[in-house]
Amino acid sequence: MNSEDHISESGQTYSVSFECANCIAVNHTFVDPSQGTSQEYVEDCQACCAPNILHVNYDEWNQEWMIRAEAE
Ligand SMILES: [Zn+2]
Repeated sequence: MNSEDHISESGQTYSVSFECANCIAVNHTFVDPSQGTSQEYVEDCQACCAPNILHVNYDEWNQEWMIRAEAE
C-alpha cells in the first residue's frame, strides 16, 4: 500500500506561518506532508506561550499549506 506519494518528497517539511489566536503574534511551524493533507495539532505560541490548536490543510488548488489557529 503505497498510493499517496503525490505530495511527499522524501521527508521534506514546509515552513508555514500562523497568527496566534491569543496575541496575534506571527509564529512559524513546520508541516510534515507525510502526515496527510489535513492535520490538527497543538503548538505553543512563541511570544505568549498560549497553546494554539492548529488546523492544517493543504490547498491543492493554490498548492500551499493553510493554517487556522484556534485558542485551546
Ligand atoms: Zn501568542
